[in-house]
Amino acid sequence: MNTETPQARIAALPPTVINQIAAGEVIERPASVVKELVENAIDAGAKRIKVDLEEGGVKLVRVCDDGCGMSNADLELVFAPHATSKLFTPDDLDHIASLGFRGEAMASIGSVARCRVVSRPPGSELGHEVEDLGGTIGEVVEAGGAAGTTIEVRDLFYNTPARRRFLKRTSTELARCLDVIQRLALAHDGIGFVATHDGRRLFDVEPDMDLRGRIRRTFGAELADSLVEVRLDEPTFGGLALHGFVAPPRFSRRDTSRLMWFLNGRFLRDKLLHRVLKEGYRGFLVEQRQPVAFLRLSLDPALVDVNVHPQKSEVRFREGRRLFGILVRALREAVAKTDIATPGASLVDAMHKREGTHPGQNWLQDPGSQGNPERARDGAPEGAESSRGTVYPWDRGQPSEVGQPLPRFAEEGSATPSERGASEWSSVDQIRGPYIQVDKTYLVRATPDGFEVIDQHALHERLTYELLLRDLRAGQVEVQGLLVPDVVELSKSEVELIGQHLDSLKKLGVDLAIFGPKSVAVHGLPARVKRPNVEGLINDILHTIEERGMPPEADEVVEEVLHRMACRSSVMAGDTLSQEEIHSLLTRARELGCDQTCPHARPTRVRFTVGDLERAFHRK
Ligand code: ADP
Ligand code: MG
Repeated sequence: MNTETPQARIAALPPTVINQIAAGEVIERPASVVKELVENAIDAGAKRIKVDLEEGGVKLVRVCDDGCGMSNADLELVFAPHATSKLFTPDDLDHIASLGFRGEAMASIGSVARCRVVSRPPGSELGHEVEDLGGTIGEVVEAGGAAGTTIEVRDLFYNTPARRRFLKRTSTELARCLDVIQRLALAHDGIGFVATHDGRRLFDVEPDMDLRGRIRRTFGAELADSLVEVRLDEPTFGGLALHGFVAPPRFSRRDTSRLMWFLNGRFLRDKLLHRVLKEGYRGFLVEQRQPVAFLRLSLDPALVDVNVHPQKSEVRFREGRRLFGILVRALREAVAKTDIATPGASLVDAMHKREGTHPGQNWLQDPGSQGNPERARDGAPEGAESSRGTVYPWDRGQPSEVGQPLPRFAEEGSATPSERGASEWSSVDQIRGPYIQVDKTYLVRATPDGFEVIDQHALHERLTYELLLRDLRAGQVEVQGLLVPDVVELSKSEVELIGQHLDSLKKLGVDLAIFGPKSVAVHGLPARVKRPNVEGLINDILHTIEERGMPPEADEVVEEVLHRMACRSSVMAGDTLSQEEIHSLLTRARELGCDQTCPHARPTRVRFTVGDLERAFHRK
């Protein structure tokens, strides 16, 4: 019989290993080191912060600041885990105002690199330094140096090779480091930042630069000068203040790299705030594009919990719904004020860049040029237009090609151009022909200062949408009954879902009845929806309700469903149109004042000036 006490399999981990494990959460790559060190410098009240990097930060990250510094007693604890000067009692967690508070960054960094801290508080004559070499903390010794703190982190992950293997190329790591520095610089006025790589200066902002100046330094003048300011003060809502800038839709991107929210000086990726911005740009931006905006939010720290995520990039808002409403309103107002033009010039530039592509193939769909074209200059001399107009043999009065008027517009009984007063000349001018139809899709005509191209399908879609919306608001959606109900096959769960919303769908003009466990019968649709693809439309509606997770009466769902109807009913893609039909279409759209983008925010018209043409032909 074995009398030996069995050896325990469980053992407490040595502190170095604990720190290395903790480091895994906080320190993933050089950029995380940069973030932690620069945040510490900001918390220390620095006015100037310099970051030197070597080999993408893997070989060296050195952050030098002129902040409050640390005494020798502080340095004894700087690498100790869970040691912080920013949090004293559990209550403090409820109103964190500093960027750091967990006291784990320095210990984590020290355990996975060769670190040295040299510091001197501005009041003391003598400075001190201490090292942490991969978890082995040295003695605090006297050292010279300027007031403030310098922290050097060398050979990141030298003792954890597995992690080192996950690092990317130098250029990628460097880009991430720079990204972190720029975000922090955008978040904090009053602090100057300098960043160098292998001795080369890559970025700098002076302490007195304001947000727009900082954006200009980071992303260039074209963007900075096009921004529209947002400012909101709601002192009764937890001291809520919003300040920042939104960019015109044409700056939108595929990624969110220029969509920045800062909360109390902290950059964050937050779902609620992201939705706020999406809402702010709704109708101005197509679904897959991300807006460009730089927004600083300050809010009583008691209304946000920042202690949710180790990297603190996600937070939890109390009263999130109210906050959402307030912010969306402020943003929509600002977005509407941006210059939503798609000047032809940028398309011409894109055309030149994309050598070899036939312009007609895709320059109108250039993903970089969202929004809509400049409005024609008001009050342009009439002669200018008519003199160009008379040149063409297909001038007005030409018999129409298909000769079918458009009852869906004609029924609105709009005023003809001649019935209008002279003061409205310029708006009439915008719809006057003659038009050439290209590819049965685009309408092209001369304008007083160039030419414009209209996407007839997109325009018709927009018009149908606006008319549907108007009917709905007036509570008079005219429903066209189907002689024979259209039966649409669905899944069981889809039938159940749609079954819960029959009444609200009826208000939208969609008259449905359950027709068995796996099908619905469509009895009627809004009369404005012409030649609909019924099955497609029902699927669209289901998809919208499911995706938004809201009932059909929610504004967002209503809008989307109307978009879908407009889209499904648009008969004008590939239709040959007479001048008369074109005029009718344009007049109605003009009257509704919404003829610049389709409901999904694709432009409906793009305008080129003579200047654009001169550039395209290298005359200038
Ligand atoms: P935290 O920032 O969460 O407090 P850290 O591990 O990042 O934890 O830093 C530990 C402590 O070291 C800080 O609380 C602060 O007192 C001190 N410290 C770190 N960097 C600096 C600096 N650049 N200037 C002054 N004090 C610093
Ligand atoms: Mg910190």
